[in-house]
Amino acid sequence: MKLFRIRGGVHPEERKEATAQRPIEAVPLPALLRIPLQQHIGAPAEPVVRMGERVLKGQLLANSQGMISAPVHAPTSGRIVRIGGYTAPHPSGLPVRTITLEPDGKDQWIGLEGVDDPFALEPEAISARVAAAGIVGMGGATFPAAVKLNLRRRYRLRLLVINGAECEPYLTCDDRLMQEQAAEVVDGIRIMAHALGVTRALVAIEDNKPRAQEAMRMACQGDPVVSVAGVPTRYPMGSEKHLVQALTGLETPARGLTADIGVVVHNAATAFAVHEAIRFGKPLLERVVTVSGGAVRTPRNLRTLLGTPVEHLLKLCGGTTAEPERLLSGGPMMGQVLPSVRVPVVKGCNGILALTPDEVRSERAMPCIRCASCVGACPCGLVPLEMAAYIRAGDLEGAARFGLADCIACGSCSYVCPSRIPLVQYFNHAKGEVAARERARVKQEETRRLAAQKSERLERMAQAKREALARRKAEMAARKQAEAEARA
Ligand code: SF4
Ligand code: SF4
Repeated sequence: MKLFRIRGGVHPEERKEATAQRPIEAVPLPALLRIPLQQHIGAPAEPVVRMGERVLKGQLLANSQGMISAPVHAPTSGRIVRIGGYTAPHPSGLPVRTITLEPDGKDQWIGLEGVDDPFALEPEAISARVAAAGIVGMGGATFPAAVKLNLRRRYRLRLLVINGAECEPYLTCDDRLMQEQAAEVVDGIRIMAHALGVTRALVAIEDNKPRAQEAMRMACQGDPVVSVAGVPTRYPMGSEKHLVQALTGLETPARGLTADIGVVVHNAATAFAVHEAIRFGKPLLERVVTVSGGAVRTPRNLRTLLGTPVEHLLKLCGGTTAEPERLLSGGPMMGQVLPSVRVPVVKGCNGILALTPDEVRSERAMPCIRCASCVGACPCGLVPLEMAAYIRAGDLEGAARFGLADCIACGSCSYVCPSRIPLVQYFNHAKGEVAARERARVKQEETRRLAAQKSERLERMAQAKREALARRKAEMAARKQAEAEARA
């Protein structure tokens, strides 16, 4: 298949060999599961269970709130022992509302309702089932999958792209899933294509995964809808907009969606979850996680219940050989630093990496030598050195003029910078600051609007009082006059 050139990108050391040959293994139940109510982009789910309640595997624990939200379900049967704040699997480590479940060891399912012929279902019925199953983008983006499956209502769609690129170093969970359960992944893709109303689906897999390519090609052999496209091994090939550009030659408009050019992108693990949800009625309770990094004794790919503590997985991998220099959820380029091994695995977690000092670039940053390597590496055509200079000077508007909002935080610029300037950290910080300012602006406007509404209401009430008083006075005067006339 003809591919199109995309700009920028880097070739970080792959380091996938530690787990690429390791089949997916099951994880024994941990003593406690911690299920955060926010495992997706959007509004957090609202609990529908109480403390002390016994629940069955697959039972709804918390319901979605609003359009962009996703419910969470019990990963096994057991008892709810706590609903409250618990350390977030996020660099802030701040507490987030979390349901703690104590497994009873019975792994007893609630009744599930699958569908024999998903292609006889209306597209809306498929997306409703996907929404009820709590499926979110499992490549790390965690956008509720049903919202993307409903895009046919607003866009003219023609292509579904399945992201099986897995371009981040170390990670092999999608590779193993596509190798071991290709038929199920392809079934999920067909179901999603039906929901989207498209007649073509392309599975993009980087060329460094020949076995996954072969397994997926076998699974969709002769299929009129699904086919496999090998894409070059280059980071960030898994970035949605770049993947679409490499496959179609079409560029997604700045600040637009791939749907603007008729394409929807889902991850390979999301397709597998859709297969399970539609065929068997299974909610999203587990996912495959790559546990790797130089500090892990025996790296593995583990089918992990959501809510399982990271320390439980590390123990299963023989523990760590030394105190990790950095603990990450996701890959080393875009992953999130974890504050503790006690945090749980959540829906978007495709990897747990425990990295040694050798694997983490921690040299001191030197001044910029204006070599422009960062410009050449940026897949979005930005000028990272200028953006960073503006941010350092506290001029966020200046950084915005240089396209800060278009930065996908891929880290390619930091990776190539010979001066070791942590460019992507500047951009993440600045984007957080811009978002905080925007939230403050919206809040201020809302406060101003409410204050104006209140003063209008008070003015209306005062006016009504004045009018009532005037009316009463007039009535009294009229009564007095009538009485005087009666006496006369
Ligand atoms: S790569 Fe680093 S040193 Fe070179 S121009 Fe960019 S910021 Fe400056
Ligand atoms: S982090 Fe942003 S600026 Fe740096 S290479 Fe990626 S997209 Fe470009």
